[in-house]
Amino acid sequence: MDKKKQILIVEDEEKIARLLEIELSYEGYETTKVYDGFEGFQTFIDGDWDLVLLDIMLPGISGIEILRRIRSTNKDVPVILLTAKDAIEDKVAGLDLGANDYVTKPFQMEELLARVRAHLRLREQEKKSDVVEEEEDVLRFEELTLNEQTREVYRKEDSIELTPREFDLLAYLLKNEKIVLNREQLLNNVWGYDYFGDTNVVDVYIRYLRNKMDKPYDKQYIHTVRGVGYVLKDEQ
Ligand code: CA
Repeated sequence: MDKKKQILIVEDEEKIARLLEIELSYEGYETTKVYDGFEGFQTFIDGDWDLVLLDIMLPGISGIEILRRIRSTNKDVPVILLTAKDAIEDKVAGLDLGANDYVTKPFQMEELLARVRAHLRLREQEKKSDVVEEEEDVLRFEELTLNEQTREVYRKEDSIELTPREFDLLAYLLKNEKIVLNREQLLNNVWGYDYFGDTNVVDVYIRYLRNKMDKPYDKQYIHTVRGVGYVLKDEQ
């Protein structure tokens, strides 16, 4: 059986919080309820949540501020705001800050449950497509990330600007991590079989690549294997 979905309820009106807890448990979710803003954010940070129900008017810090903090650490978790009837500004601010949805108090429990289900389902689909995308397009090695779709390269958080040839060379090294590649292999696979240039061109491009994605950092990933060629690996 699937692990129960974890829902965090931040709501200072205990009756409402209690009612939500009962209904959500009945639907098969695991819930935690918190009555104040500070504790609400702390509890969020300490846990692993599938969805957050967030009241706006709270003692401590407001739901809007909690949302801002949640989104600075987590862009993906669905957040549904519980708002007072006339608080249009709060709704707008909340949606601008990345809330997924809101319900206006007093709400119909069925409507709220339907929204919870919908957002949990949507998040599941997003997770699946994230995984597929990663498998298809992203090559990783230690601190390096190369996206073949967008042709972006990162080392840690730094974006590395590469020319098309440098990009292809790095992609080939990444696909063959820890395998020693000789110059002819690199030339054939990166420049193409119809390339009749000198194999020295490989050395030149390896140097360009190192200057951009290795030299500025502590650890070197591209290693020269004397008399053979190059290998992408961790130091040692
Ligand atoms: Ca409240």
